Amino acid sequence: MTAQLIDGKAVAAQVHERVRQAVEARVAAGKRAPALATVLVGADPASEIYVRSKRQTCEKIGIRSVPTHLDAAISEAELLAVVDQLNADDSIDGILVQLPLPKNINADKVIERIRPDKDVDGFHPYNFGRLAQKTPTLRPCTPWGSVELLKSTGVPLAGKRALVIGQSNIVGRPMALELLLLGCTVTVAHSKTRDLPEEVARAEVLVVGTGIPDMIKGDWIREGAIVIDVGINRLPSGKLCGDVEFDAARQKAAFITPVPGGVGPMTVAMLMENTLRAAELRETA
Ligand code: NDP
Repeated sequence: MTAQLIDGKAVAAQVHERVRQAVEARVAAGKRAPALATVLVGADPASEIYVRSKRQTCEKIGIRSVPTHLDAAISEAELLAVVDQLNADDSIDGILVQLPLPKNINADKVIERIRPDKDVDGFHPYNFGRLAQKTPTLRPCTPWGSVELLKSTGVPLAGKRALVIGQSNIVGRPMALELLLLGCTVTVAHSKTRDLPEEVARAEVLVVGTGIPDMIKGDWIREGAIVIDVGINRLPSGKLCGDVEFDAARQKAAFITPVPGGVGPMTVAMLMENTLRAAELRETA
C-alpha cells in the first residue's frame, strides 16, 4: 500500500477562503474586520518566521493584524502590562503571544493573563477546560487543525483506536481530547511508555508530536492507518522533517501528512478561524 498524502496546504486554503468570505460578509454588513494582536518578544528567528507568516495570512484574508515587537530584555511585569493593555482594548479580538518566551518570563502566567475570550491560541486553562468538558469554544490550533485533516480523509472516525504520542499542553493533551470528541478510543503515549512499537501497531489513527526526528519507524505502523505527523524538525542539513519515518510509513499507512505541508499550514489557518470566532463571540456576549 502507498498512502495517500493529506495535503495540509489545500485544506488550509479552504479554511482561509471560508474565513475570508465570513470577514467580507461582516464588513459588508457594517461591522469591523476582526483584529489579531501578535506579541513577539526578542529575536528568535523561528518565532519571527511564525509571526510573519501569521500576519501575512491575516492580511490575505482581511483580518487586521496589530503587531507588537518587544525587546528580549523586557521584564515579566512589563509583558503582563502589554497583555493587560490589549485585553482592555475593545478594537482587539484576539491576542497571540508567540512562544517560547525568554527564560525569565513565566509563560503560564502570561497565558493565564490573556482574557479567555481573546485567547485565540486556545491555551488558557479556561479554554482547555471547555475542550475537556466537551464544550469547546476557542480551541488549541494545532490539534484542531489536525482534526480538520483527519476529517478531510472522509474516513469515519468514531470507534477508531487512536494513539497520540506526546502529552504537551499545546499538542498531545488537547489532541487526545479532540479525538475523544470524534468518538475515538484514545491512548496517550509519552516518554515513560513501555512498549511504543506495540502501541503504534494497534493504532488505526496515529498522531505524533514528540519533536524527535524520524523516531516513529515506518514498519511499526499498522497497515491502513491514518498518520498525522505534527513534528517539525530542522536537520543539520537545513531540511525539515517530521517525527515519523515518512518513506517507510507511507508503505504501510492509508493516509499520511507530509512535513512540511501537513499540519503546519493548518495551525495558522485555525488561528484565523479562532480570531473570527473570538470577534463573533464578543459581539454576542
Ligand atoms: P514537547 O517537547 O513539549 O513535548 C514532546 C512530547 O514528546 C512529550 O510529551 C514527551 O513525553 C514526548 N516524548 C519524548 N520522547 C518520547 C519517547 N521516546 N517516546 C514517547 N514520547 C516521547 O513538544 P511539543 O508538543 O511542543 O511539540 C512536539 C512537536 O510538534 C515538535 O516537533 C514541534 O516543533 C511540533 N509542533 C508543530 C506545530 C505545527 O504547527 N505543526 C505546532 C506545535 C508544535 P514526556 O511528557 O513524558 O516528556
